[in-house]
Amino acid sequence: MFCPYLLGGTDSLDNLALACFHCNRRKTNRVTASDPESGGTVPLFNPRQNSWREHFVWSADKLRVIGLTATRRATIATLDFNRERIIHIRAADLEIGRHPPADEPIAE
Ligand SMILES: [Zn+2]
Repeated sequence: MFCPYLLGGTDSLDNLALACFHCNRRKTNRVTASDPESGGTVPLFNPRQNSWREHFVWSADKLRVIGLTATRRATIATLDFNRERIIHIRAADLEIGRHPPADEPIAE
């Protein structure tokens, strides 16, 4: 079956990534995006090929995702990782010890 969102790939499990509704809706079928700092087009973070722990760091207050490279910045901007609503959820989770996930780097 043809699906315009698969970009020639398949819908087999090894070609899919688990995502929440909000990130999935923002990503659509994009694999590149604009880096807000340089304006250049760069690949989006690919959870099947890239390691979250190697590419992202939490802000010192643990509420915002920080991107230090063009791909990271473009992914954060495209998926709106630091939208106000999710920051409130992280703050509530932080209070009960459910955030940030274990072993994820935090900026100093
Ligand atoms: Zn999400």
